[in-house]
Amino acid sequence: MRPILFIVVPCYNEEEVLPESSRLFFDKLVALIDRNEIAPESRVLFVDDGSKDSTWKIIQSLSREDKHFQGVSLSRNRGHQNALLAGLLEAKDKCDITISIDCDGQDDIDAIDEMVARYKEGNDVVYGVRSDRSSDSFFKRFTAESYYHLLRFLGADIVFNHADYRLLSDRVLYELDSFKEVNLYLRGIVPLIGFSSTSVYYSRKERIAGETHYPLARMLALAMNGITSLSAEPLRLISKIGVFIAIISFIGVIWSIVEQFTGNTVAGWASMTCIICFVAGVQLLSIGILGEYIGKIYLEVKGRPRFIIKERTKRYEEQAK
Ligand code: UDP
Ligand code: MG
Repeated sequence: MRPILFIVVPCYNEEEVLPESSRLFFDKLVALIDRNEIAPESRVLFVDDGSKDSTWKIIQSLSREDKHFQGVSLSRNRGHQNALLAGLLEAKDKCDITISIDCDGQDDIDAIDEMVARYKEGNDVVYGVRSDRSSDSFFKRFTAESYYHLLRFLGADIVFNHADYRLLSDRVLYELDSFKEVNLYLRGIVPLIGFSSTSVYYSRKERIAGETHYPLARMLALAMNGITSLSAEPLRLISKIGVFIAIISFIGVIWSIVEQFTGNTVAGWASMTCIICFVAGVQLLSIGILGEYIGKIYLEVKGRPRFIIKERTKRYEEQAK
């Protein structure tokens, strides 16, 4: 069995990295083809996520030089998740399996061999899992790991220490196509699709060049998206806090009536202020959480396209499975 593999690579302003990492992808693809592990029609598919530098030019010239390189360009920057989705949906009719990988060389390319082997053993999904995060700062490691725990706690089924380096079979890609949500968090959706899955382990490296596109603010936004797209638990949490505060309030009412009749009602400015501040804080936080979900409903209801493809590399159009 020689599946057609598409390596799907989202790229945003990666002109410094691309010349080097494209070599890595190419060598890996050709080595697998030579060993008869995958079909000769296998490709590296770059998705240019509306880059402002020469990324798309580099992709175009790569594809002119060698037919193994293909690319699509989005009409504007839509973020990693949408760019990845664009690539996966583009690839789904042309291949048997996709492997999504970042273009900065952080994900160990050699894990691809094992992913393909696991696929041949009958797995439709193979997760790339980081066996150690020593290349990340302590802060990133700590926040990332706490976040996985939080998502688990909120009831989302996600794979610990797995980012977006994974193999998907065409069956899974077809099902993925029917998840129409705009608030997209692939890490959470893939486990929901189901089918048999397994993990391979790799150690995450430093970026080859350039800088991360996920500074703290964007990471927090992605994290928030993840929670709101996978779990309604925060809404339930509000009700639970409400019940808790209602019980306390009931006790407080009885207490204040007793105080009233025993004539001790003048003191109590501090306790009053504390109660008002506390309840106001909880209320604002609750409204904020509600608002977060309503905002997401608003975006979903509009059902705008998640990405728009502006251009494809020349030879790309010709190929079909
Ligand atoms: N990326 C993208 N669109 C964006 C931001 C990033 O397609 O708006 C790509 C980027 O080119 C890279 C991958 O997503 O291939 C992961 O981004 P990055 O390495 O900056 O994130 P980190 O690994 O630091 O979390
Ligand atoms: Mg990276």
